[in-house]
Amino acid sequence: MRMKLTEDCSRIAVPHGVICPECKRSPGDWHAEWLPEGVDLLVGKGQAAMDCPYRDCGAWVTSEGRLNQLVSGEDIPPERRYKRSLSRARKYASGDPSTGHVSQTGGLSLEEWIETVVPAYKGYDFGP
Ligand SMILES: [Zn+2]
Repeated sequence: MRMKLTEDCSRIAVPHGVICPECKRSPGDWHAEWLPEGVDLLVGKGQAAMDCPYRDCGAWVTSEGRLNQLVSGEDIPPERRYKRSLSRARKYASGDPSTGHVSQTGGLSLEEWIETVVPAYKGYDFGP
């Protein structure tokens, strides 16, 4: 199910501040770009689910085509539920240009990124 994507439409971003339909909190950044390649687009179309990063929530969420609102993804079958990738998150935090992340701060370790930018991800159980 790999998608061939052009640079222009290869990424989507959930706007900052969008809340989880389950716990009603916003992690700040949903970091859909940390999902396995192409999954962010599927989440954007409601065809795959990602989890809420708060350790005490972890609800599966998706969208209905409008990224400014996330809805429950509990109806999405297990094979289309994705966790964020540890290796992709590490690359992103390090400022690797292939991630599309233009770092203002220079490269950080993922732990530093979480500590300083997105503490909601503390203790998040990453996928590979
Ligand atoms: Zn939540």
